[in-house]
Amino acid sequence: MQVTAIYPGTFDPMTRGHIDVATRSSKMFDDVILGVADNPSPSKKPFFDTDERVAMAKAILKDLPNVHVRPFSGLLVKYAEEVNAKVIVRGLRAISDFDYEVQIAGVNRHLQPDVETVFIAAAQDYTFLSSSIVKELAMLDGDYSDFVHPLVIAEFKRKLAARSAAKEGNNP
Ligand code: ADP
Repeated sequence: MQVTAIYPGTFDPMTRGHIDVATRSSKMFDDVILGVADNPSPSKKPFFDTDERVAMAKAILKDLPNVHVRPFSGLLVKYAEEVNAKVIVRGLRAISDFDYEVQIAGVNRHLQPDVETVFIAAAQDYTFLSSSIVKELAMLDGDYSDFVHPLVIAEFKRKLAARSAAKEGNNP
């Protein structure tokens, strides 16, 4: 039986923790769709646009032939059905992830009992790593090169430079 899994997230931006989960998933399933949320929860206002998050993830994961990066919007279980994915992959870092993740897994199972959520424990080196930490370091000019692919650093530089140029333009 061919098993397709979906690994959904905001990936704002993709970190080495995400890369690790995507790589490990690619060895467990025939195909992995890395679903980049186009409409993440209202509490999250992504720094990178959906197109930018998708393009970065595609470039970073280009050497994993069975991982396919796709934007998605709407209900995750509906999208899973659309792409015939029977498994949802989520990463678990700490107890703090647990409550939320188990709650969402329960709701998704209620909505679509044929789709199973599988949790992958974060690698030891990445248990503290999140996209929010990376964003904070990037804004404060801290060194986050151990946490992301070099392409992400270049994208931050580009976007932050464009922002400050726009600000200067507004305040001559
Ligand atoms: P979301 O908005 O869905 O939480 P994220 O991009 O923050 O999207 O995370 C996507 C998934 O990757 C989640 O399951 C999250 O727990 C997992 N994840 C995030 N960071 C790491 C990490 N450092 N190691 C392992 N899994 C992680």
